[in-house]
Amino acid sequence: MALIVHKYGGTSMGSTDRIRNVAKRVAKWVRAGHQMVVVPSAMSGETNRLLGLAKELSPAKHTPALARELDAIAATGEQVSVGLLAIALQAEGLESVSYAGWQVPVATDSSYTKARIESIDDKRVRADLAAGKVVVITGFQGIDPEGNVTTLGRGGSDTSAVAIAAAMKAAECLIYTDVDGVYTTDPRVVPEARRLSTITFEEMLEMASLGSKILQIRSVEFAGKYKVPLRVLSSFTPWDIDINEEAASGTLITFEEDENMEQAVVSGIAFNRDEAKVTLLGVPDKPGIAFQILGPVAEANIDIDVIIQNVSHDGKTDFSFTVHRNDYARTMELLQGTVGPATNAAKVAGDPKICKVSIVGIGMRSHVGVASKMFRALSEEGINIQMISTSEIKTSVVIDEKYMELAVRALHKAFDLDQDAANA
Ligand code: ADP
Ligand code: ASP
Ligand code: MG
Repeated sequence: MALIVHKYGGTSMGSTDRIRNVAKRVAKWVRAGHQMVVVPSAMSGETNRLLGLAKELSPAKHTPALARELDAIAATGEQVSVGLLAIALQAEGLESVSYAGWQVPVATDSSYTKARIESIDDKRVRADLAAGKVVVITGFQGIDPEGNVTTLGRGGSDTSAVAIAAAMKAAECLIYTDVDGVYTTDPRVVPEARRLSTITFEEMLEMASLGSKILQIRSVEFAGKYKVPLRVLSSFTPWDIDINEEAASGTLITFEEDENMEQAVVSGIAFNRDEAKVTLLGVPDKPGIAFQILGPVAEANIDIDVIIQNVSHDGKTDFSFTVHRNDYARTMELLQGTVGPATNAAKVAGDPKICKVSIVGIGMRSHVGVASKMFRALSEEGINIQMISTSEIKTSVVIDEKYMELAVRALHKAFDLDQDAANA
């Protein structure tokens, strides 16, 4: 007997029929002798619908008071899901109880719309499990020290599930979704993408941080910090398939590199359409200029990703960086209004229609020429690279958004990711 956490995403919870299926699957695990905690997301489309309603009424200015209400509204999607799932489990003849984040409680900080989990009190849940109940806990939501409802950011139910698994020292956390595992890249963009039977924690962390929305990055961080065994698998297999077969399916996130395994140099390709590029042209190239530009941006709470400073000509240089697309207008305002004039920049330019495409693989540590192979593949497609950023196990390029799919497909092919041997 083991304590297992299951997480079901929006599509898996998308209708009462699907919820019934989830309940039947969970019941199978209970009958196999396991203690079960289940963390569902809102029914598919529900979070967007709720936030859409709020947007219709929102003032133009984004204030903390508005963010508080957005969380209060968005959190209701998961509230409905837990109740429905608990009823479906009861209909399967199981004892089941649902909890909202505040009832557990799942304690977070107060950064509305992107709150961080600080602690989880597992007393109540343990007592229920000991009494033979299946416990269903909302994904995505928590409560701050003042008793306000918070949410963990889009895709945050993954993080709820892994954090609960960590707090309860669960034997495994299974993330059930609408694909049967982690693929070499998003199978919606590259149909030839292949499922990986394992991916290392470090690679998964990079993939998530570089834009693969299969797992929220904080869920991977939690799994790494608390060594939670984590698997991504399909909720669309028949619920009554053999439990051992199910338990071994999908993609396992591994913590140790298997020395004997022939590692692919590049394991996956991630892409991100959520960024925008801004440039200050003709700024004086002198000590402190980067700080003069980026200091005020950081003070405005705007996260910066890729940065590039050109070689100077006649004491002047161009300085570009990328920010989240939601912060684009604010960043341009800041540069045009204060930073540009303060640094004597000749011009401020911006481009919100860019994307970042990245290759990821721990094999890149020990192989040379990987980045140049990437650049060649892109040049063969006539794709211009605007910015480059590298780390030990990834290389990212910023390109025109309209070439994103072409770039991802070309790289997938160039690194033989559609061939079985690459990740056997
Ligand atoms: P859920 O609602 O279950 O949380 P998500 O939509 O958040 O599901 O995540 C699953 C989706 O992630 C898939 O449908 C797929 O399109 C997308 N995805 C992006 N990158 C990958 C990848 N490398 N492997 C598998 N799926 C990916
Ligand atoms: N329902 C939330 C969202 O749509 C959380 C999640 O699905 O993980 O982002
Ligand atoms: Mg998700």
